[in-house]
Amino acid sequence: MTAISKILIANRGEIALRVLRACKELGIATVAVHSTADANAMHVRLADESVCIGPPPSRDSYLNIHQIVAACEITGADAVHPGYGFLSENAKFADILDAHGITFIGPTAEHIRLMGDKITAKKTAVELGIPVVPGSDGEVLPENALEIARQIGFPVLIKATAGGGGRGMKVAKTEDELEEAVSTARSEALAAFGNDAVYMEKYLGKPRHIEVQVVGDGAGNAIHLGERDCSLQRRHQKVWEEANSPALNVEQRMNIGQICADAMKKMKYRGAGTIEFLYENGEFFFIEMNTRLQVEHPITEAITGIDLVHEQIRVASGAGLSVTQDQVVFSGHAIECRINAEDPRTFVPSPGTITHFHAPGGLGVRVDSGVYAGYKIPPYYDSLIGKLIVHGRTRVECMMRLRRVLDEFVVDGIKTTLPLFQDLVSNQDIANGDYDIHWLENYLAETSA
Ligand code: ADP
Repeated sequence: MTAISKILIANRGEIALRVLRACKELGIATVAVHSTADANAMHVRLADESVCIGPPPSRDSYLNIHQIVAACEITGADAVHPGYGFLSENAKFADILDAHGITFIGPTAEHIRLMGDKITAKKTAVELGIPVVPGSDGEVLPENALEIARQIGFPVLIKATAGGGGRGMKVAKTEDELEEAVSTARSEALAAFGNDAVYMEKYLGKPRHIEVQVVGDGAGNAIHLGERDCSLQRRHQKVWEEANSPALNVEQRMNIGQICADAMKKMKYRGAGTIEFLYENGEFFFIEMNTRLQVEHPITEAITGIDLVHEQIRVASGAGLSVTQDQVVFSGHAIECRINAEDPRTFVPSPGTITHFHAPGGLGVRVDSGVYAGYKIPPYYDSLIGKLIVHGRTRVECMMRLRRVLDEFVVDGIKTTLPLFQDLVSNQDIANGDYDIHWLENYLAETSA
């Protein structure tokens, strides 16, 4: 066991606060890092110590590995929690921390690399017994694209090997569209990731996005904590997530969960991870694995009562998981709304000063947010300002509670996406749980017409 006594949180915003809370509960000292733009941020105020690591742009601060390692050495932090985004899936960062004798709270650098490259990730998934989307075995080049597409069958999707955030992804419905789709995907991938390698998959028409939460101890023991349905997306970004998925029954849940847990045991995976699938006509198709904590992890915490950050810290220190699979009990239903500082119609970012802030409360309500009245949202980062998580004994109760809670939430001074959720919570398709990954985009197009 490597006892962890001080954790440096290499992140900002709500997730830095989320990690800090877990550390406090476990009696572990905390170090916040921040850019000059975040000197007054809540994660800085609540941490035991803080270090300024650079100017506002992320590449000079939250992505600056040297500054973060230096901050560990100055403060004597023995571990780093990377949150999500920034350096959370950066294998080089994990290697450098290792070389400095600092514990990275996450998987091994080798596993980050394995899953970070989508082609390798898919091959690994196949070896581990996880069902994947039919597609090319490896990289697709302009010269072999047509042959591969004919084998898979149109429509096909061209995706970036280094992909993320839905960039470098192009659909070709017919042979005529293929050449252009491949060349645009390659140039977008090059621009976004500095790597133009692309691969090809069968394009699924009306799938749901369903992902399985896993946690492993790195020594061959792993469990699953059920699934989350993240089908409500805009531009491949999740907007509303729920656990459990309205589309699965208990048997399907336990089946796919077990497949994922078994795969993680075989891999000897360490830490929290998410295995993402598209789900269509009763079948699951692996698309990728995220080797970190996810934005939407609180809905899993709500229905299992298990603190995922506690588990991450436990396994990083070698203490193992706090529960066995048999001890995991799923209870009720949870929904998360991502509240962004954006215009709810155009989604144009709306930075500025929050003049009034009132977070709702009551039974089954959780608000994860680092903002407060008087806080000035800097324009440099992601527009997520908070997450609203609501839990109920049933999906119906959860929706009733969500409606009440949305009415109570006040954020003045800037525009937020709260009104969008007020519309969604009253929508019949949403009430019926009847939606796929295209539903939200179609809805937004229809309602803005
Ligand atoms: P990224 O890492 O860029 O987010 P993913 O592989 O996770 O890429 O896919 C992001 C989203 O793109 C999915 O949630 C889904 O909406 C869509 N998508 C990905 N693969 C397919 C596919 N084969 N067919 C249809 N839609 C897909």
